[in-house]
Amino acid sequence: MTSFKRSDPGASKPRRPEAPQGESASPSFGEAEWHRLKQELEFSNTLMRTQQECSLDGIMVVSEEGRIVSCNQRFLDIWKLPEEILASGSNERALEYAAGMVLNPDAANAVVRELYKNRHSRNHDEIFLKDGRILDRYSVPLEAADGHFYGRVWYFRDVTDYRRAEERVRQANERLRATISQLKEQKKQSGILSEMREMLQACSSASEVGPIVQQSMRKLFPRTSGSLYLMGTAGRELETVEVWGRGAALPSAEGFPADDCWALRRGRLHLAETPGIGPVCAHLKNQVSAPSACVPLAAKGEVLGILHLQVEEDAPPERQTRTMERICRLATTISEYLSLSIVNLRLREQLAEQSIRDPLTGLYNRRYLMEALGREIRRAERNSYPIAVVMMDIDHFKPFNDRFGHPAGDALLEALGAFLKANLRGGDAACRYGGEEFILFLPEASLEGASRNMERILEGIANLAITHRGKRLPPVTFSVGISAYPDHGKDRDSLIQAADTALYQAKKMGRNQVVMATP
Ligand code: GH3
Ligand code: MG
Ligand code: MG
Repeated sequence: MTSFKRSDPGASKPRRPEAPQGESASPSFGEAEWHRLKQELEFSNTLMRTQQECSLDGIMVVSEEGRIVSCNQRFLDIWKLPEEILASGSNERALEYAAGMVLNPDAANAVVRELYKNRHSRNHDEIFLKDGRILDRYSVPLEAADGHFYGRVWYFRDVTDYRRAEERVRQANERLRATISQLKEQKKQSGILSEMREMLQACSSASEVGPIVQQSMRKLFPRTSGSLYLMGTAGRELETVEVWGRGAALPSAEGFPADDCWALRRGRLHLAETPGIGPVCAHLKNQVSAPSACVPLAAKGEVLGILHLQVEEDAPPERQTRTMERICRLATTISEYLSLSIVNLRLREQLAEQSIRDPLTGLYNRRYLMEALGREIRRAERNSYPIAVVMMDIDHFKPFNDRFGHPAGDALLEALGAFLKANLRGGDAACRYGGEEFILFLPEASLEGASRNMERILEGIANLAITHRGKRLPPVTFSVGISAYPDHGKDRDSLIQAADTALYQAKKMGRNQVVMATP
């Protein structure tokens, strides 16, 4: 115990009390009793001194009059109180000195003043020092069993390391919590992306892609609008296939070239984080009023499309920032999934198309005709409308080939195919039935209607200017036979047979004419 009386050994040495005057010394203060009392007191003093010096707390005792009675070494280590203040024993001066070390002296001293006003009260708080230390401060009144007030004891414990460790644990917990919630969010996002990929894989045509992308993007980026543009079949312009959300760029009826998008020009994600600053993609027509991103969709150098995402204008700024961060994080995965699915779909579509088309004329092949005509007859049956079946055969094609060569014959067949395709109505279909024979079926057309139509087509063919290797080929004529559902048959084979018979008639009657089947 460091005490102002610490050098005064007598302080703890009791003196033998004098016997009261007029009375003889009490037998209780006999030599043996006095010796026992003295030993007890010595023990008590030693115990107290040792306890205080061994304490981890800095301890200071202040008398009723506000004088520092004693303090231990730990107290001096904590407060580094100058020797002269210590020697003065003035608690006021000690407080004044301590105020210079405390971060918030007014609050710290207010507590002290309050305690000196309410002598019997206790206090436990923490004070923060300017040097970064944190002290746990505890104060209790020094009271005898009979309630006599002697002063006050102050305990100070340096809890800096403890509090810092606590803070480190708190921060680590916070980081852990953030990581867990990030992992949860990533799990949810990868679930959405996997679902999108699965659905895209199950698509049977590119037209189904839009709604799937919209649904997934709405889940991944709430409060974000978007548009999906895909390269048109001609491979020249991007076309709007899906638009969603409030601030979405309006779907444009016309397509736009790949060069209108910075993401496609650069082949990487293009961000427009601050509207009005930086280049704006021409395809957006300056509609950008909030942070937006263009995700390029491409595979093996081939441009497939663009996914454009725009944060809603009135979304809170921190949400806008978070969404843009998420877009940046997921853009590559989304682009890969989408691009791969689109490429696969296009390949599948191409294969499907190839399997039903004749490569030379671009018309449907015989296999497709058989399927489609069967289907069309069932529909006509349900809806009670006629179908005209037309069979066409080029007249004297063999001599044509013999004269101009097989490649010229091919060029002629190719040009005729293109002409037929371009001159039929939406629901009509033309197929190459055999070498130089074609079958057309015209739903909802009567025998007479189809006949008039064919006259017009034959006229058109007669006027076709077809060239091969720079030389104009002479026009060819057709013989045509027409039958109609249900008059000449209620199934595919009988209708074809009836048209074939009419065609044979046309050949017999001198070719270059249209013959209608007879009932
Ligand atoms: P008809 O007026 O009686 O129909 O006489 P045709 O010569 O057209 O009829 P034929 O059945 O004797 O000959 C059909 C010819 O069509 C034989 C063949 O050289 C030609 N042909 C069939 N397929 C092709 C093809 O893919 N390319 C070319 N260049 N010619 C073809
Ligand atoms: Mg023939
Ligand atoms: Mg022929």
